[in-house]
Amino acid sequence: MSYSKSFDRCVRELSRLPGIGKKTAIRLSMHLLKMSMKDVEDLSSSIYNLKRDTRFCLKCGSISDEDICEICLDKNRDNTVICVVEEAKDIFLIESSGKFGGLYHVLGGRLAPLDGITPDDLRIGSLLKRIEEDGVKEIILATNPDVEGDTTAIYLYKLISKRYNSVKVTRIATGVPIGGYLEYVDEITILKSLENRREMG
Ligand SMILES: [Zn+2]
Repeated sequence: MSYSKSFDRCVRELSRLPGIGKKTAIRLSMHLLKMSMKDVEDLSSSIYNLKRDTRFCLKCGSISDEDICEICLDKNRDNTVICVVEEAKDIFLIESSGKFGGLYHVLGGRLAPLDGITPDDLRIGSLLKRIEEDGVKEIILATNPDVEGDTTAIYLYKLISKRYNSVKVTRIATGVPIGGYLEYVDEITILKSLENRREMG
């Protein structure tokens, strides 16, 4: 209780964000109070516009300003190679290495039976559709190198190799530290782990 309803409300809203506890929310709210009105307006409109203008690419599931994202529309990219990631943010990381020339597919999570996340909760059907329709030659499984990411990769490998035996299924190499998440890995490591990917099976 700060004795200001607006302050308390801002703290409450910020606390709902991931990784923001109440102490941090109070600190951020104090900071916002000290910012200029213009900076606060810019911040709030950027959040509003993000929600209003951003959508998920109908093809790969990454975030986009249009129905189909720029990566999927890029004619210079190799559409026969698809790198499968858990979340759109993993794409930003791989793209920052600047060396991957294929396309992506966002699963929207990973298999976690204990949390009730099953294949039906992931964008697997649309991946199979792309393999069938776009003449895909290689699927690179770049799910996180931990138990659930590996489980997801093995599940997808079995599913894809059984249905489409002409498609090569590879897994990113273990240049990534065990249990390390893609988001904590630097660009060189991600690049190496992509280059040194191995065929599964
Ligand atoms: Zn796309």
